[in-house]
Amino acid sequence: SAEAVPQAPEDPLFGLMAAYRADPFDKKVDLGIGAYRDNNAKPWVLPVVKKADAILRDDPALNHEYLPIAGLASFTSAAAKLILGADSPAIAEQRTTSVQTISGTGAVHLGALFLARFYPGKPTVYFSNPTWANHNQIFNNVALPVATYPYFSKSTKGLDFMGMKKAISDAPDRSIILLHACAHNPTGVDPTQEQWKEIAVLLREKSHFPFFDCAYQGFASGDLAKDAWAVRYFVSQGFELCIAQSFAKNFGLYGERAGCFHFVTGRATDATKTVGRISSQLAILQRSEISNPPAYGARIASTVLNDPALFAEWEENLREMSGRIITMRKALRSKLEELETPGSWNHITDQIGMFSFTGLSEREVQKLRDVAHVYMTKNGRISMAGLNTGNVEYFAKAVDRVVRE
Ligand code: PMP
Repeated sequence: SAEAVPQAPEDPLFGLMAAYRADPFDKKVDLGIGAYRDNNAKPWVLPVVKKADAILRDDPALNHEYLPIAGLASFTSAAAKLILGADSPAIAEQRTTSVQTISGTGAVHLGALFLARFYPGKPTVYFSNPTWANHNQIFNNVALPVATYPYFSKSTKGLDFMGMKKAISDAPDRSIILLHACAHNPTGVDPTQEQWKEIAVLLREKSHFPFFDCAYQGFASGDLAKDAWAVRYFVSQGFELCIAQSFAKNFGLYGERAGCFHFVTGRATDATKTVGRISSQLAILQRSEISNPPAYGARIASTVLNDPALFAEWEENLREMSGRIITMRKALRSKLEELETPGSWNHITDQIGMFSFTGLSEREVQKLRDVAHVYMTKNGRISMAGLNTGNVEYFAKAVDRVVRE
């Protein structure tokens, strides 16, 4: 009977958001959720998104019909060019197929479902320890076995490259290796380009399959090509791979759920046929799960991605977001160093993207919440976007206090 359904735990992140909202304290600080905030701690509708919205609203031909199963073609093709590069040989050689998804989460899910169905053997999916909490749940949902590779070094607060390499070498051949394309969530630590090259060699030796999760292109560094470097490098090395792409952060389209799943095959002579078959299977999976994806966010992104002037304006908006975050990293580090807070704080500026893994303990995180009304996840991750010129000093002082206690 229905009474047998056990109570599930609340999602930690969304629980944190609710607790923050309920807190009446005027100086409370929200460093939990990974959504961009402007310098006034307010959500930011990108000016270029406002423009695209106005263009769409003025279009008398626009209606609310269903999109095709694979989504809005002008969006998915522009999305492929965005991640792979407009001059990508994989696109020119028709070795790619793209399906519009329910943002990045839906793209990870569709990829997971496809691999669970069609990847030979029952491969284990390896992801970084730690990783975005949803990875584990998504791959569990499709019953693929999961394991982790070391990633974050507690001592250096940087990459545990040796540990990562060893685990990837020790994994059974043809495992699926999930990689964050840039701005690793939650640590903010990315491999260098030299390290990516070594990772590619290892994956090749072991015939592993790379699955890139790309949720922060352009948002991390402000440079779209730089943030796509690892993916493009793997493609240039002839890997067969897939990519889950989110437009939540880089367009600020969080709730509109604009995303894309891409599959890229290797350079075999019949690659186009292979891609055709993959695309036919993805369509069936998509049809049975969501029928067809939501239109609005994809239309906004497509309008911008396909218009050179709007695209240039979007890049400006990206630089504004990433620039503000980098300024906050510098401000936080220098405040902590000024206060001579025990510990080293260079990792705050070394790490990139939305998040910083502060190294604060669970106990210190709890204290920050109790004494200073600062809300952050218990693993010590902070969303840099929650800091601004009005609260960075308050936060630094609160950290200083709890670290000394
Ligand atoms: N992957 C990673 C690593 C992320 O950080 C996120 C956003 N938190 C996502 C995927 C997907 O987010 P969304 O479904 O909102 O696009």
